[in-house]
Amino acid sequence: MSQKPIAVIIGAGVGGLATAIRLAVKGYAVTVFEKNSYAGGKIAAFNLKGFSFDEGPSLFTQPENIEELFTLAGVSIQDFFTYRSLSIACRYFFENGIIINAFTDTDAFAEELRLKLHEDGQKVFSYLKQSEKTYNDIGAIFLNYSLHKTSILNAPIKKAFATVRAGHLFKTLHQFNSQYFTQPETIQIFDRYATYNGSNPYQAPAMLSLIPHLEQNLGTYYPTGGMVNIADALYKLARTLGVDFHFNKPVDHIKTTDKKVIGVMVNNQFVKADVMVSNMDVYFTYKYLLSDERKAKKVLQQERSSSAIIFYWGIKKEFPSLQLHNIFFSKDYQAEFEHIFKSGTLYNDPTIYINITSKMEASHAPEGMENWFVMVNAPANSGQDWKLLREQCKKAIILKLNRILKTDIEPLIEVEQVMDPVNIEEKTSSYMGSLYGTSSNGKMAAFLRHPNFHSSIKGLYFVGGSVHPGGGIPLCLHSAKLVSKLISDDKLNPPL
Ligand code: FAD
Repeated sequence: MSQKPIAVIIGAGVGGLATAIRLAVKGYAVTVFEKNSYAGGKIAAFNLKGFSFDEGPSLFTQPENIEELFTLAGVSIQDFFTYRSLSIACRYFFENGIIINAFTDTDAFAEELRLKLHEDGQKVFSYLKQSEKTYNDIGAIFLNYSLHKTSILNAPIKKAFATVRAGHLFKTLHQFNSQYFTQPETIQIFDRYATYNGSNPYQAPAMLSLIPHLEQNLGTYYPTGGMVNIADALYKLARTLGVDFHFNKPVDHIKTTDKKVIGVMVNNQFVKADVMVSNMDVYFTYKYLLSDERKAKKVLQQERSSSAIIFYWGIKKEFPSLQLHNIFFSKDYQAEFEHIFKSGTLYNDPTIYINITSKMEASHAPEGMENWFVMVNAPANSGQDWKLLREQCKKAIILKLNRILKTDIEPLIEVEQVMDPVNIEEKTSSYMGSLYGTSSNGKMAAFLRHPNFHSSIKGLYFVGGSVHPGGGIPLCLHSAKLVSKLISDDKLNPPL
């Protein structure tokens, strides 16, 4: 009887889980070692005195990436994972009293911006059209090809170049949006998309104008049970396919011989592997698992993405004026980003994101109450006084919410838990607590992310938010697809 080749995966984040599924489908015997006691990495959840909270990601787009994994496995998704679409992607609050509903129906969204901001509706249509085109022609190349292999030459590059306007290459997202729209509120709404991969719209390239296509054109969704169900469903699917999971088992070292992986050391024991995929932050993989300080330092040449301070509040009141996703914008967005990316601190009037899943599922909060996930973008950790910053941040949030919602929030906070960049790094081994690996604050950032393979060690691959094509659940799922294809192309001990 022929033995299956062995694939070892380091980390059960969403990228690790998706890779495990893809390799199991291809006929590998897959083993996953995970440092934490659960699968999902940054996708996690917890309960606090009757309130349920998603701990990390809250925005779900492109469910087809999850569907594809179930289709590949020949398993019906319905038994594992369901979701529904939202009619409002986000509700935006401005200090001047303007409130904008970002309807996922483009006609309704354009009408909302026309009515409330006197923005030219046609501009909204044409912006979202160009967003779609940029995504389809250029985004698709980043998502579906490893930029560092000759296979990139097969990509529809000509089409991409025909789409790339000079503006996309040489302007920042903010400059691009400022030329498109007339109203500061509209510009701020479209600038915000740079934060979807932890970047600064005043530095990141206009290419990021493809992101609104995902949310506004393709739709925004809510997974039944919350975001944690994405990880739960993928974990269960992987188990169904025979993937072997070991929790509370950090990998200590990657073993190689003759520039090829041979296995890992876990708890002083050697575990053999024919191929290996690290879902651990690539910086830490080099530093700790490969003891390669030189390569680790090279990874650091790219700026880390932003991190966050998150307050999980059980609120003993219902706020009908709030949606599932809500943003309370800073009055001075540029100053906020300068504080985060240049001064490495927080601005005193931060943009606040509030996610309330009890709007979708009453069971997530006691009756008459709501579960608030309150997040402020923060710099990646470089040794700041986080205790002080957390206190200052809480005060600023409360002042701003009191002002805009005309309420007194503090006495309504029934329970509280807080997370900052240090906790994020501790929990998920994400260097400096960055949410999305490296930032896109530069024209070449997308090209400079670490590839999905090791340049000289055969059989070693990288998946997840710290490598190509970048952070965020959809991109991590794409990186798993790329890794799986690279492994097949490399034909190292392929399954028979
Ligand atoms: P990670 O989640 O980074 O997991 C890596 C895993 O590797 C961890 O489980 C870790 O324990 C394990 N590990 C590390 N070292 C070892 C070792 N030596 N041995 C074994 N295991 C190890 N994305 C969105 O799409 N939408 C959002 O709304 C969104 N919001 C976010 C909000 C927050 C607060 C955070 C933290 C992230 C958010 N993101 C969002 C980003 C998204 O969560 C991540 O990009 C994605 O989940 C990262 O997945 P990953 O595959 O890189 O693995």
